[in-house]
Amino acid sequence: MEQPATAPLRVDKLQPKEPRGLVVVITGNGKGKTTSAMGMVLRACGHGLRSCIVQFMKGDLYSGEWDGVKRLGDLVELHATGKGFCGLRGNPYTREEHRANAQAAIALAREKLLSGAFNLIVLDEINNAVKHRLVDLEQVLALLDERPERVHLVLTGRNAPAEVVERADTVSEVNEIKHAYRQQIEPQPGIDY
Ligand code: ATP
Ligand code: MG
Repeated sequence: MEQPATAPLRVDKLQPKEPRGLVVVITGNGKGKTTSAMGMVLRACGHGLRSCIVQFMKGDLYSGEWDGVKRLGDLVELHATGKGFCGLRGNPYTREEHRANAQAAIALAREKLLSGAFNLIVLDEINNAVKHRLVDLEQVLALLDERPERVHLVLTGRNAPAEVVERADTVSEVNEIKHAYRQQIEPQPGIDY
């Protein structure tokens, strides 16, 4: 017997009545902060929105998003500005070198935020950079104050400062229930980096 014809699926694209930029914080000790930010970048691409990612403290160890975003074409740019995790055993750089790098990254972030060229700015691991005092809390708060109304700003990293949480519109804390690392499973490409 013939199947009854079904109506074609209707796809609606909602438009906000009042478009505005949001400040989103992804913090906590579980896995999924940076990848959540990348997910928002991917989603923004689907709307033709332009994103800029500035990664703090990262730059010494390859991570898939560096080349992954290139596949999204000219809608995304990514700057891995750091020299790895400050204070982590085996990291050869001095605190001063880490701080100088993070300070350059803040200047870059500000330039991109105010450039008018981007709809979404991701400051990846910036919370960690504040925690390690490579960036001053006041510098982050200044960025929040200067943010153009229509630009989305996503801040990731453990230990989000209370003042940043207070000013954000959306804050998620990723809790660790399990991490493969704890079973001595080594980090895997695509999942962990
Ligand atoms: P992801 O980048 O996977 O979204 P994240 O941003 O939430 O992770 P980070 O703290 O930035 O988490 O960790 C960066 C990388 O280190 C990730 O690949 C993550 O899987 C891994 N990682 C997280 N926690 C641990 C841990 N306790 N030990 C070892 N590696 C970890
Ligand atoms: Mg991260």
